[in-house]
Amino acid sequence: MTAPLVSGEPIIVDVALDARSYDIVIGRGVLSSLGDRIGRMKPGAKAAIVTDETVARHHLAAAQDALARANISSSRVVVPPGESAKKISGFETVCEALIDARIDRGDVVVALGGGVIGDLAGFAAATVRRGIDFIQVPTSLLAQVDSSIGGKTAINSRHGKNLIGAFHQPVLVLADTALLDTLPERQLRNGYTELVKHGFICDAAFFSWLDNNWREVFSGGAARDQAVARSCRIKADVVARDERENGDRQLLNLGHTFGHALEADAGFSDRLLHGEAISIGLALAFSYSTKRGLMPSQETERAIAHLNSVGLPTKVSQIPGERPTADRLMAQIAQDKKVKRGKLTFILSRGIGKAFVEPDVDPSDIRNFLTEQLAAR
Ligand code: NAD
Repeated sequence: MTAPLVSGEPIIVDVALDARSYDIVIGRGVLSSLGDRIGRMKPGAKAAIVTDETVARHHLAAAQDALARANISSSRVVVPPGESAKKISGFETVCEALIDARIDRGDVVVALGGGVIGDLAGFAAATVRRGIDFIQVPTSLLAQVDSSIGGKTAINSRHGKNLIGAFHQPVLVLADTALLDTLPERQLRNGYTELVKHGFICDAAFFSWLDNNWREVFSGGAARDQAVARSCRIKADVVARDERENGDRQLLNLGHTFGHALEADAGFSDRLLHGEAISIGLALAFSYSTKRGLMPSQETERAIAHLNSVGLPTKVSQIPGERPTADRLMAQIAQDKKVKRGKLTFILSRGIGKAFVEPDVDPSDIRNFLTEQLAAR
């Protein structure tokens, strides 16, 4: 595990992408350094903060103060909270506001919010004036450990999520772990799924450490900073190896094929948040790996027991409302994944920390497995 923290000292994780490399700065209170950091990176730049109404209520004043203290003039765009801000109309609002504020290529866009704001502001920054530098200030756990890193930006089309987007790496990620103190518990758990997923993919020691320390990650002690940092390190390394998702980056989709199908079946609603769907998806990916004789059953049981103790669902029967059917889930999986030569690609596992890409999965095998799982209580 990462070395113990010296109190007050931020942890820096670098994302090595040649000319597009950047730092992720992690720690309690790092938001207060926003203005100084912009001043050093881009002397004379103005900043436009993009945020949502909920995050604005809690944290906009602190972000604006940090800029004012460094004599950086700032404007702001505040959109409603939630996924609906990622519509084309929300994108238009943000782009027009940036242009109204005369933000140009010498300036910087600051995405202050969860994954919705990061994706939306990042895509606006990628396109307005053909590309403006942007800084991620992630305020949800999901955004701190996942969506703020890696440069995927996008908005939604009426045909599906994240269909209109660009790769546009941030120039800095400032992950202030104190901002998570105002995040509702259910949202913390939602982001925790992606955090522990990184251990499940390739770091069994990190998983064991989380098994002992997850309570402190939730309560906001030093373990939170260490967990965010370790998780960012894992994602940053995967992204550095495969920025455009042609190979290893697919590993980050562990649990996501099953999870996305469940999330889509539940209508992308509060019935089942993304992280909750992925938690069930992880349990299904491990159980399927065990069924195929790849993953020892004790490892699968250990992973599922951990997710349950955190309060995350691991069974389809835990989804409130109408139960999905194998047919509907298979239709979602076929939409999500291209069937190549009659086979599906899945991320499977040989044990905790041993995920791998399996391009040769028979769709009828998955259908049978889902039918069994759906029959279980
Ligand atoms: P979100 O941005 O909607 O945030 C969840 C809720 O928490 C919102 O209501 C928000 O207002 C509130 N919130 C955020 N920070 C808060 C804080 N500090 N205090 C109080 N409330 C706060 O959702 P999310 O879960 O952060 O992100 C989900 C989005 O991320 C989806 O649109 C998904 O497509 C995207 N995503 C992108 C990537 C990527 O690589 N770009 C990866 C994963 C997910």
